[in-house]
Amino acid sequence: MNAPSPRGIACLVRGLPTADGAGVKLTRVIGQPQLPDLDPFLMLDEFGTDNPDDYIAGFPDHPHRGFETVTYMIDGRMRHRDNHGHEGVLEPGGVQWMTAGSGIVHSEMPEQQSGRMRGFQLWINLPARDKMTPPRYQEFAREQIAQLEIHGVRVKVIAGAVAGSVGPVTQPATDPTYLDIELPAGHEFTQALPSGHAAFVYAYEGEARIGVGDKADTVHAHELAVLTDGTEVRIEGGAKTRTRVILVAGRPLREPVAKYGPFVMNTRAELMQAFEDFQNGRF
Ligand code: MN
Repeated sequence: MNAPSPRGIACLVRGLPTADGAGVKLTRVIGQPQLPDLDPFLMLDEFGTDNPDDYIAGFPDHPHRGFETVTYMIDGRMRHRDNHGHEGVLEPGGVQWMTAGSGIVHSEMPEQQSGRMRGFQLWINLPARDKMTPPRYQEFAREQIAQLEIHGVRVKVIAGAVAGSVGPVTQPATDPTYLDIELPAGHEFTQALPSGHAAFVYAYEGEARIGVGDKADTVHAHELAVLTDGTEVRIEGGAKTRTRVILVAGRPLREPVAKYGPFVMNTRAELMQAFEDFQNGRF
């Protein structure tokens, strides 16, 4: 067996404040000029505000085809409803892993008039063979997501495996890891990751050192660290305050990407077909 090789930070990216939907203020971290994509990840938005004016307009009806949207709520409640009759409310600590596949039209609207709204939406690409699969949902409330405590570090396992606990989400195409990790001051955590998988750490509270020895570097709050390749990642929380990060990894697809807004296909012809199908009510 080969010795583990620690991953480090390949580059640090700070998100771009923007607005989407009907005027929801958010920070786009993947899917902006500094980091257009990180195959298989197409987009990462962080939303986080105590001001209802920033989120109340929500995301009225809009389509998706050819990829997956993963919404992870930390604070706040969001109601989703699609044109296939699927509806529900995403509560704090819950995740909705939606495989849009051949197409859905849905809305994502705040189920609250005030208070904090905080979380992430990640877009993950699908391989050509899966782009036109029937839409599918994997939805799990907080209590359905394994939460471990390992030497004082709290880890929620949304996808992937930690110390024998397997997250509830499955997606063979990209074999994703999605962990929410809370490190008390001065604590550290090491996670194995498949070599060759694209991986990032996004710090949403505090700051973390990533890597080992003199190759370690710091990711600050609201920065994304793209990781170098390797078999594991060591994350050390800040010395004085608690740190919260998400650690996400997945197998790159290495396929051509033709995308426009909410349609992500392999060719321009498929993109044109997506527009036509959507406009003719075939989602
Ligand atoms: Mn959507």
